[in-house]
Amino acid sequence: MTPIEGRTGDPEADLWETVIGLEVHAQVMSDAKLFSGAATGFGAEPNTQVSLVDAAFPGMLPVINRRCVEQAVRTGLGLNAQINLRSVFDRKNYFYPDLPAGYQISQYKDPIVGEGEVTVDLENGESRTVRIERLHLEQDAGKSVHDMDPKRTFVDLNRAGVALMEIVSKPDLRSADEAGAYLAKLRSILRYLGTCDGNMEQGSLRADVNVSVRRPGAPLGTRCEIKNLNSIRFIRQAIEHEARRQIDILEDGGEIEQETRLFDPGRGETRAMRSKEEAHDYRYFPDPDLLPLELDPDWVEEIRAGLPELPDAKKARFVGEYGLAPADAATLAADREDADFFEAVARGRKDPKLAGNWVINEFYGRLNRAGQRRADSPVTAEKLSGLLALIESGDISGRIAKDVFDAMFETGGDAAAIVEAKGLKQISDTGAIEAIVDRLIAENPKQVAQAREQPKVAGWFVGQVMKATKGQANPAVVNEILKKKL
Ligand code: ADP
Ligand code: MG
Repeated sequence: MTPIEGRTGDPEADLWETVIGLEVHAQVMSDAKLFSGAATGFGAEPNTQVSLVDAAFPGMLPVINRRCVEQAVRTGLGLNAQINLRSVFDRKNYFYPDLPAGYQISQYKDPIVGEGEVTVDLENGESRTVRIERLHLEQDAGKSVHDMDPKRTFVDLNRAGVALMEIVSKPDLRSADEAGAYLAKLRSILRYLGTCDGNMEQGSLRADVNVSVRRPGAPLGTRCEIKNLNSIRFIRQAIEHEARRQIDILEDGGEIEQETRLFDPGRGETRAMRSKEEAHDYRYFPDPDLLPLELDPDWVEEIRAGLPELPDAKKARFVGEYGLAPADAATLAADREDADFFEAVARGRKDPKLAGNWVINEFYGRLNRAGQRRADSPVTAEKLSGLLALIESGDISGRIAKDVFDAMFETGGDAAAIVEAKGLKQISDTGAIEAIVDRLIAENPKQVAQAREQPKVAGWFVGQVMKATKGQANPAVVNEILKKKL
């Protein structure tokens, strides 16, 4: 928990706790929609991926897409959740121009997936468990287009009927950081499973964020729901703003009204959209066009058997097998291809921890600074591994390795070839280093005297040797010789 200070001036007693629960909409990866054969690809011409079912022509009947059900089950298993072998599709009724049927097919009382949990990795390397309340399948709506004509609104039904998984968390999150980390972890799991592409800019993953505040230990406060956030940064900003707004009201003696709010990214604020009184009455009832969904337990087990190694298991393996720090292991395991890249670099290396450091700090650090992706990098996993081999063998120091790495990025060349061509091989030859040390001792009697009093001054000599060898002297050998001679 990260408490927020109030303004009575007593920092000990005057703390507020933020309580957050997320309702995440994840678009199912499937070529066809939840109840029709229409295509789902992003960015198609408006209204080119609409079947008669999606347009709600009279007499059209929905037919469940087995692939979407399989994806929901796979996701439930990946969230360590209860799979309900019997679930029911309901109609959620409301009028909106982008909803031609006048209702959305969703799941209400009997969702396909029940309680589960997600382990959230926090930045300080700690982790927390966030409970999942449920996951249900539902249709997406179409899109109203307001900016093509000054007087009219157009409707694009390409998205209408696309399968969504709504994943609801319990109110277990306690700060904007935790909420951000939760969504990042959820996205990572969905991508590993191949059930949602997690592309937030394209709207494949978006969240409604419920926020309340309370004194630590007090019962839950009244919540407000902030609708439809499609970036982790906005989610964090919205939570921070909303918690502060609620605290201000409560400290002024007011009460929080349960309401739905919108986040304005331009101003970094939330504003009221509708109050509880104006909330929809959806008049849910079981869809008479669809039978209850019954799953074969053997099929569920087949799906379970086909699950990939997921981020938590991979993280644990990276800690156990390679000796990585938990935070580094979590960073590398968050993305499947990052993890594969690391393993390709670490393969055959004596010091996999060094490989982890290089992949995270040097490799991704450099790509991020350049705004590039792994696929753009001329340095492959094998080439990076080859560079680390030269450090391990003592041919080059870690310092020189960074210069070689720069050259590899520029030319796409091999580490060994670059070291050879530029004559960067580390000097481990004791004779050569001794000669330099002898000369330095002879030329600098004052520093020699100081170094004998204060061993720290010996560092000056190390610097001088490095300067004389253009950084190529083996630091271990230099220290050894200095110790002997001083
Ligand atoms: P509804 O069905 O009306 O949307 P739910 O009880 O299903 O309400 O809760 C929706 C979301 O709100 C869940 O993610 C839940 O964790 C969260 N939530 C419930 N109560 C609170 C609260 N007091 N503060 C913050 N979040 C809450
Ligand atoms: Mg809700």
